Amino acid sequence: MRAMVLERPRTPLVMRERPERVPAAGEILIEIAACGVCRTDLHVVDGELPNPNLPIVPGHEIVGRVAAIGAGAAELALGERVGIPWLGSTCGVCGYCLSGRENLCDRALFTGYTRDGGYATHALADARYCFPLPQLQDDAEVAPLLCAGLIGWRSYRMATAEELAGAARLEALGLYGFGAAAHILVQVAAWQGRRVYAFTRVGDEAAQVFAKSLGAVWAGGSDEVPPEPLDAAIIFAPVGPLVPLALKAVKKGGRVVCGGIHMSDIPSFPYRLLWEERHIVSVANLTRADAREFLALVPQAGVKSEVRRYPLAAANDALADLRAGRLQGAAVLIP
Ligand SMILES: [Zn+2]
Ligand SMILES: [Zn+2]
Repeated sequence: MRAMVLERPRTPLVMRERPERVPAAGEILIEIAACGVCRTDLHVVDGELPNPNLPIVPGHEIVGRVAAIGAGAAELALGERVGIPWLGSTCGVCGYCLSGRENLCDRALFTGYTRDGGYATHALADARYCFPLPQLQDDAEVAPLLCAGLIGWRSYRMATAEELAGAARLEALGLYGFGAAAHILVQVAAWQGRRVYAFTRVGDEAAQVFAKSLGAVWAGGSDEVPPEPLDAAIIFAPVGPLVPLALKAVKKGGRVVCGGIHMSDIPSFPYRLLWEERHIVSVANLTRADAREFLALVPQAGVKSEVRRYPLAAANDALADLRAGRLQGAAVLIP
């Protein structure tokens, strides 16, 4: 097999030949068809997340077909198309696992961070954390659903928590940072009849046009005030100063959800921005229940992801384009 490997933080990935591996008990071997490039991969490559399992193969939006099945993983069939997300495995016995919060497991392994991921021709995965994928779209278009979509969905559920608890319906939702996650989520929110306000980098008119084409009712720079107060906002960009800006934009009782795994420092801000029961919350990882729920909703909502394909060997170019904001939608590696 071939893989693009991170050997040291802040160095380019290098192509390595590796012996093909045999799945252990409970594992499957996947022949990879596509792997999405997520901002978290940039944080891993840049050394912004602690203790990656180096050398590591990044990538946690993997679409592939089952090529070999280890003992006890028989619920998946050879040749079946599956997705492998960020949550690689959990312990199943800690307090978080036992209370429906496996996303917070004390001993979780994460694909492309603490176990090898999908910037490769093949990958091993714990079969219990893989998802059969309906034959909806082509492999590359499905890949971004597996993190941008899933983490976006968990963030969205967090944003709508008050509504889910029986309070007023969330009508006006702000999305800060219009990358892979927001371009999927705006379609879900618009399909559910909500008004989405998309905040992009200041002056990024192409992203604003793109956001409106996908269902946003308004798009502007992140320094702009939306035309109506928001019920909730989700921040996908890893930019701490967006937190006080989003707090200013949400109404009383509103939520600001931070959807990323890493963010620059949040500047201090006056308490009055948080006053009146505004909330700031973060979203960490995903649960398998999130994934099942979201993947079932995708065909109903007609979600379609926009992708730019790169050959596996061009993984460094894909990361550079993501870093520079040169992408519309999501980058996907094709081995
Ligand atoms: Zn656990
Ligand atoms: Zn991700």
